[in-house]
Amino acid sequence: MDALIVGAGPAGCAAAILLARAGREVLMVDKALPRDKLCGGLLSGRALRLLRERLGLELPASVVGEVCAGFEICDGRELLNSAEGEAPLTFVFRDRFDAFLLEAARGAGCRVEPGRFEGLRGDAAVVDGRELRCGRIVGADGVFSAVGRAQGKSLPDRSLAVGLQVDVPRSASPALAGLHAARIFFGYLRLGWGWAFPKGERVSIGLGGMPGTKEDLAAAMRRLLADCGVAGSQSLKLRGAKLPNAAFLREPAAGQVLLCGDAAGFAEPLTGEGIAFALHSGALAAQSMLAGAGRKEFRPAGTCGTSDTAGAGCAARYNAACRSEITPLFAQALRARNLLFREPFRSLAMRRFRAGTGAMKRFLRVLSGESDYRKFFSDSLLGR
Ligand SMILES: Cc1cc2nc3c(=O)[nH]c(=O)nc-3n(C[C@H](O)[C@H](O)[C@H](O)COP(=O)(O)OP(=O)(O)OC[C@H]3O[C@@H](n4cnc5c(N)ncnc54)[C@H](O)[C@@H]3O)c2cc1C
Repeated sequence: MDALIVGAGPAGCAAAILLARAGREVLMVDKALPRDKLCGGLLSGRALRLLRERLGLELPASVVGEVCAGFEICDGRELLNSAEGEAPLTFVFRDRFDAFLLEAARGAGCRVEPGRFEGLRGDAAVVDGRELRCGRIVGADGVFSAVGRAQGKSLPDRSLAVGLQVDVPRSASPALAGLHAARIFFGYLRLGWGWAFPKGERVSIGLGGMPGTKEDLAAAMRRLLADCGVAGSQSLKLRGAKLPNAAFLREPAAGQVLLCGDAAGFAEPLTGEGIAFALHSGALAAQSMLAGAGRKEFRPAGTCGTSDTAGAGCAARYNAACRSEITPLFAQALRARNLLFREPFRSLAMRRFRAGTGAMKRFLRVLSGESDYRKFFSDSLLGR
């Protein structure tokens, strides 16, 4: 086997699709199939472009809950402003989106099996007690990556954010019944923000608390639900999950092992967007492996390793690609986030949002990948 991919989310599927299409023998295992991922399901223009241009995939209509032109910002119950950008925001049903990617991987020729990665034993990966030998291991197994742990590259718990979310029928929330934009809420947490994302007949309402916050997230979430007029807000069952938010790996690959997506900490620290970066890093991992094929770097089936020099070229290519294409935005977003949630900048930002839509439109350009936070701030200072 040429590659073992651990985790069948967007990162694993992106790597699987490109490797299998190139004729590599690929096995993808996941400990929990079918997947059930707690997620707002927002796909930015960046994510759609990656799907189309790197993976050659178009989203089927059955996956899409709603497509919106823009977003609204609220401070508590007050709607500050709404703005539209050039690239639409697409909200997907996450279970259907994940199933679509998995089918694309299968269709490309990747073998998919249920299986839990347990660790490395010598040169082999251990999955459900079985030793598997493979050329490369892609760790796409999420924020608590077992592959990362086996490599000594776990993300520190103090760097993780917490997200709470419930999906409610529109009819259960009179305040959101006519929502056809992404609504972002400030004012419920000192260190965090909330969202309401429309998906056809349903709305996903969530709240994300940044690492280190000592605030009572559940109480803040119930306040948000009550303000949205959600019936039974005090008794609704809240679901929660962690996501990478501050620490991302500068060297996500070593030897034969490449970490992608949440396993590498690749979620944007200000917005929490992770799907685009999971797709992007999965694609980069595959491309880094395939680029070595001409140089006979692909190790023969039946061998596997985690620290030898055979993987060094591939690992170096992947690390360099992530440093050039993915993580520069994260470093900027981290600085922007630290400003936005600190006084007096927070109050200043709310005043700006109330006064006009310029900052919101500039932000939409960052979200779509047409701009970055550095340009956002320089244009803001110049009043553009
Ligand atoms: C509340 C919340 C809301 C979010 N909203 C958005 C949003 O609107 N838009 C957006 O872009 N991002 C959002 N994100 C982030 C996004 O969901 C993640 O960044 C994205 O799913 C990461 O994809 P991935 O493939 O890296 O990992 P995952 O999707 O987490 O997939 C990892 C897979 O690995 C499997 N696995 C784990 N351990 C093992 C093991 N030992 N062996 C085998 N398999 C294993 C798991 O079962 C899972 O299927 C949100 C996150 C949260 C928590």
